[in-house]
Amino acid sequence: MEKICVAVRVRPPAPELSPENGSSLWKVEDNRISLHKSLDTPITTASYAFDHVFDESSTNACVYELLTKDIIHAAVEGFNGTAFAYGQTSSGKTFTMTGSETDPGIIRRSVRDVFERIHMISDREFLIRVSYMEIYNEEINDLLAVENQRLQIHEHLERGVFVAGLKEEIVSDAEQILKLIDSGEVNRHFGETNMNVHSSRSHTIFRMVIESRGKDNTSSDAIRVSVLNLVDLAGSERIAKTGAGGVRLQEGKYINKSLMILGNVINKLSDSAKLRAHIPYRDSKLTRILQPALGGNAKTCIICTIAPEEHHIEESKGTLQFASRAKRITNCAQVNEILTDAALLKRQKLEIEELRMKLQGSHAEVLEQEILKLSNQMLKYELECERLKTQLEEERRKQKEQENCIKEQQMKIENLNNLVTNSDFKRNQSEDFIISRKTPDGLCNINDISDVPGTPCFKSASRSFVVARSNNYSGLSDFSPMVHSLGDVADEDTWMKLNKGFVADLDQIQFTPAVKCQPTPLSIATTECPRENYIEVEDLKSQIELLTNDKDSLQVKFNEQVLLRNKLMQEMSELKQETLTMKEIPNRLSESVANCKDVYKDVIVTMKSLIADKESPTANLLLGTTEITMSLLSTLETQFSMIMDGQKTGSSIDHPFSDQWETLRVSLKNTTTSLLSDAQAKDEFLNCHNKGKETAALEEKKLKSELSIIKERYNELEKELCLDKKLLGASRETHEKLLKEVQFLKEERDSLDRKISQSTQRLRVIASDKENALKDLNVEVKRRKEMEEEIKHISIAFATRHKSFVSFHSEIKSKMQKLTTQNSKAP
Ligand code: ADP
Ligand code: MG
Repeated sequence: MEKICVAVRVRPPAPELSPENGSSLWKVEDNRISLHKSLDTPITTASYAFDHVFDESSTNACVYELLTKDIIHAAVEGFNGTAFAYGQTSSGKTFTMTGSETDPGIIRRSVRDVFERIHMISDREFLIRVSYMEIYNEEINDLLAVENQRLQIHEHLERGVFVAGLKEEIVSDAEQILKLIDSGEVNRHFGETNMNVHSSRSHTIFRMVIESRGKDNTSSDAIRVSVLNLVDLAGSERIAKTGAGGVRLQEGKYINKSLMILGNVINKLSDSAKLRAHIPYRDSKLTRILQPALGGNAKTCIICTIAPEEHHIEESKGTLQFASRAKRITNCAQVNEILTDAALLKRQKLEIEELRMKLQGSHAEVLEQEILKLSNQMLKYELECERLKTQLEEERRKQKEQENCIKEQQMKIENLNNLVTNSDFKRNQSEDFIISRKTPDGLCNINDISDVPGTPCFKSASRSFVVARSNNYSGLSDFSPMVHSLGDVADEDTWMKLNKGFVADLDQIQFTPAVKCQPTPLSIATTECPRENYIEVEDLKSQIELLTNDKDSLQVKFNEQVLLRNKLMQEMSELKQETLTMKEIPNRLSESVANCKDVYKDVIVTMKSLIADKESPTANLLLGTTEITMSLLSTLETQFSMIMDGQKTGSSIDHPFSDQWETLRVSLKNTTTSLLSDAQAKDEFLNCHNKGKETAALEEKKLKSELSIIKERYNELEKELCLDKKLLGASRETHEKLLKEVQFLKEERDSLDRKISQSTQRLRVIASDKENALKDLNVEVKRRKEMEEEIKHISIAFATRHKSFVSFHSEIKSKMQKLTTQNSKAP
């Protein structure tokens, strides 16, 4: 276990700033950096110590020498290594990693150093591959092959995390790599912000995979594989300061998010082991790729860059806090060695030879114990194998259950879909909800080895190593090459795992003697695999559960909406009925008016027949009243028919009622008053000239009574008219209300329609999600099958080895017995 090496570098003040603005408030003393007030008094709370602190005058050469050189050398020895620069925009990350013409950065220096180192190691042959990628807006792009965009990160049970489809070039010297880097730089995303004219808008990862094998055939055939990552992060930024907008703003958001996740991962890792529940590596592509470098199998150094200007103090403090956290992380770097079967056998033979030697030195009992221990170990492995088998069986059973469950869910979804399709609300039938799933491009673009020369120190050795390793790159679906035969190279899956710098337990790896570690039992690795599977299956399960819940809640909503809709429909039909009844009112009224007219006509005819003198004032009065009443009744009739016509055409009715009624009423009054005055005049005339005439008195009486009858009738008619008016007004109001309600109901129905179609869409999306989950499960099943196959192979290998051990054991035993008898016979 070793701590991550953390350094801080303060860049020189920007030349465009005035000296007082540019003067640094950060003071560097040895490996400590502290914030001072303007009058040079240190602020005690802002003082930090790190492995190295580089001041403004330090060069990239100095940073490389003190911080990264050891990691690069270790990478050549077989350790995974990572160096990355972290800091706010314009603090000097790119300057540190890439450098300038006069002062090359860490990447260039590392490349040269790796090859210098290789030249110095004469007893090993090397194979080096490089790749260069960027993470831009959470998408991985290949900088060595522009066509490889939006690459996917895959996680393989054995291989660990890897970027599928990333181009890897086999290289033979430093210059070749530097040219590749230059070509990659062209494809990088840069942009101009207020803070930096040439601001990196993406995280870039330059990766070297260094493989080596001893040239001497008598020594172990172990192959060392190490991965070296050199990372230039995009800078964290305050949107307000950078003045970003549009694309820049979007980029800034992605950058800040991924850096925040990196910060979270560092925070979690810096917690004590007990508190570390879950490290969120999966939350961003950057942390997923850097997983081995953060708390895993790698030697890691972080260079945190800060800008000295006063207005950057807050950001600088943030960077220093990040650095302090990172300092607490421990990694566990080991030499990644892969042993071929031949090498393993050779090693075992040597051990046996050693045992023999010891036996000859008559340490028989100790040796016997050791042999017994070995046999026990073998038995233990076998038991472990059995256990794994049963676990696998269990897993398979569970998976089957899950598949059945998914099938059931699918059936339900289909039923639901049918339901929705049949629903009369379905409008957007023609819409196509095909959710296309991107299939990851799995082709690898490794160059053919035929025209790639070996590394310099490789020349003297046979080319079989390079050829065997590199010939296999061409047909691969992901970036790391595999070997076809297990003849003289390592087990390919184990190899793959190490190639990725995967933080897995290096169970299948035998440590070099220098590390002084016992080989870890092979079974641990295989125990880890089902656990990973189990976690993934659990993941899938919970996903399916979530989807099912989602679907259920949608179904409930859908049902509720259907109920609501039915209720509304019922209300609508009731309202329609009411409207119809209301519409009939004027019709009925007009009918009753017509009846009234007929009755009135009959009454008038009868009255006329009763009057003998057609010229008498009574006859005149009757005639006038008849005319008025008739015109009144006709007006009523026309009004009602107009209302009915208006209803039919839907047009609004003009209401001249009140005016007409008023005119009629006035004319009726006038006629009555004129008739009355006429009658009074006649009365006076009769009084003066025909006082004695009884008939006149009688007639007068009769006339008076008729007049009062007419007056009463007139009042009644006026009352009726008033009532009619009121009724009409009320019916008009109800009619308008009903119209509004119908409109409202229509709107409600439309919104319901929309909701239902949305639900249908969501249901479809869920269905397709489920389909995808099913696909994933199928992939999982496949993987399990592969794993089972592998376990079978391992069991067979164990069985053979066990056999040979048992025979060897019995051989040794018999020899020991012989020796004991010889010893006892000897005087
Ligand atoms: P970042 O990558 O952090 O956004 P850069 O590396 O692009 O920042 O640096 C911004 C500017 O500051 C560049 O012009 C760079 O040349 C200059 N710079 C950064 N660090 C140093 C340094 N140590 N010495 C000289 N110039 C530097
Ligand atoms: Mg940069």
